[in-house]
Amino acid sequence: MSDAAPRMRIFTPGPVMMWPETLRLGAQQTPYFRNAAFSAVVQDCERRLLQLAHAPDGSRCVFITGAGTAAMEAAVCGLVDPERGAGVVNGGSFGQRFVDICAVHRLPAHVLTVDRDPLSDGTALAQLPASAGALLVNAHETSVGHCYDLGATAAWCAAHDALHVVDAISLFMTDPLDMQADRIDALIVSSHKGLALPPGLAMVLLAPRALARVRTGASYYLDLAAHLGDGVRGQTPFTPAVTIMLQLQQRLTALCEAGPAAEWARVAALAARFRAGLAGLPLRCHARHMPNAMTALALTGAAPDAPTLVRRLEVEYGCVVAPNGGALASTVFRVGHMGALEAGDIDHLLAALQSLLGVL
Ligand SMILES: *Cc1c(COP(=O)(O)O)cnc(C)c1O
Repeated sequence: MSDAAPRMRIFTPGPVMMWPETLRLGAQQTPYFRNAAFSAVVQDCERRLLQLAHAPDGSRCVFITGAGTAAMEAAVCGLVDPERGAGVVNGGSFGQRFVDICAVHRLPAHVLTVDRDPLSDGTALAQLPASAGALLVNAHETSVGHCYDLGATAAWCAAHDALHVVDAISLFMTDPLDMQADRIDALIVSSHKGLALPPGLAMVLLAPRALARVRTGASYYLDLAAHLGDGVRGQTPFTPAVTIMLQLQQRLTALCEAGPAAEWARVAALAARFRAGLAGLPLRCHARHMPNAMTALALTGAAPDAPTLVRRLEVEYGCVVAPNGGALASTVFRVGHMGALEAGDIDHLLAALQSLLGVL
């Protein structure tokens, strides 16, 4: 059964559904930004982001206009010492992205290839060279829906005097994360995942240990030092994503008021509702260490294949989920729980899965 024009529900791991107040701000004219009023917005966003991430005293946040990958590249260019190189946890396409960024900038990358290993027991990490000056890890490897144990990666960094550089783009504000408890030196975040804003704004939060090691000159547009310098007065070196910054301020104000734990619990409840509703369907969770943010699902029956299911969910039920690439393309697809989703949206998707998979 499909409506003539079903309401589109977006369950992709970014971009995600946005809240009505975000959409309203997006309809306004973009204001001029080289003035005190906009500087105050930038400074307020910096203060609130550091608060929500529980960053240590003296931390800073830079705002980069670009996709999340721009912040990954800024962090690599600004924090990886060309002599010491970086350890890179590669458990999927986002780990591979760190490897590729290091290669483009001719920075030595010591790659730890893993498959849904939480790294908790330290045996895999022990393969990295002790000399690496940074460890690059995706808190949630979004291509397979798997989370690493940041306590374990932090312990490796502490033992080797390495910077703990964490890409939390697909985990920030959906899952518990604490820069102090997880001893994170650099945290990479972007606008269009758990923050539920349009794509185009990316952030790097830097603890004092990272600030002390910032290197300049490896990139012009993505230079952390230039962003930090202008950020002191609430400005950016280049035209910022002005409207998204205003939407960010509105969102952060709401999140700070309720506290991050309330948002983590809201997303956790949606993820739990979805996963409980899968019982009896020919689907298996692809990862054991799953975030609240997303569920990667493997089809256990012969038919339909994942691309067919993904297409029918969209065309017939208005549910946009994400296909996988590479070797998992025919069997795995991903369902995000980030953004402005409600229990009714989850139920609608579950009902669609039940009828497409022949259970109802
Ligand atoms: C979405 C995502 C990114 C950034 O992707 P962009 O397309 O550049 O915004 C980076 N890392 C992870 C883990 C992600 O999920």
